[in-house]
Amino acid sequence: MLRKVAEGVPIHQSEFLQTNTVVVQGRAGVLVIDPGVRGDEMVCLANDLSDLGRTVVAGFSTHPHWDHLLWHASLGVAPRYGTARCAATVRDRLSDARAKARIAELIPPDIVEQVPLDMLGLITGLPAETKQIPWDGPQIRIIEHQAHAPGHAALLIEERGVLVAGDLLSDVLIPLLDLNDTADPIEAYLAALRLLEDAADDVDVVVPGHGSIGGADQVRARIEQDRAYVHALRHAGVPGEPRVGPSATYDWLPGVHERQLEHLARRRERDGTPG
Ligand SMILES: [Zn+2]
Repeated sequence: MLRKVAEGVPIHQSEFLQTNTVVVQGRAGVLVIDPGVRGDEMVCLANDLSDLGRTVVAGFSTHPHWDHLLWHASLGVAPRYGTARCAATVRDRLSDARAKARIAELIPPDIVEQVPLDMLGLITGLPAETKQIPWDGPQIRIIEHQAHAPGHAALLIEERGVLVAGDLLSDVLIPLLDLNDTADPIEAYLAALRLLEDAADDVDVVVPGHGSIGGADQVRARIEQDRAYVHALRHAGVPGEPRVGPSATYDWLPGVHERQLEHLARRRERDGTPG
């Protein structure tokens, strides 16, 4: 089930929303980034890794959304990390007794039974400003920003030229702004894209949290496409945007696009600012 995108970096794509799990080979074992969605897929991943003689020595969640916070016992008991802000958000959102029931309501009914929530969000926050994932393997730079979700991290596996973009730079999803946690969601998103652009020269492969893997030529193209969408949102314009047009991969995306427009219009009215 694993496909190699760079030396020592196999990935697995889940059927649900084309969710990508990235595995990075280290000296003593592997790091698993955003482990997947369905229990049977995570078991299959664990089996494939054990057939290859690889132990999971660490996990990482790119951001505090349920589909990036899952884990399965078969993957073992390695420490699982996220940014400090990601971990704090998870703690906060999972703190009450009803939390998991609320999360279950977010999961599409056709797969909810197959999504194991028992180990959801058991992550350790790395100290704020941590620049690298602490592990015995290729250096992985943490590019933290506040687009899409609090403490969202893109990861740059420098020696392998792989950018793990989390929920940015997707070819199937439009930029989904974090409309609740930031004072200026548009600016937060644009700032994140600038950070990724600064790293783009070192990238040969871009792996979005959802969607298809892109080559070197795709990195800047996707940054531009996301930026154009966010600019269009700011000016309440209609983006010439295939991801929400008639050829959209997901038919619910045009609705999400409309909701983002409405939310931002309300915000402008409330704040009396041009956006
Ligand atoms: Zn997300």
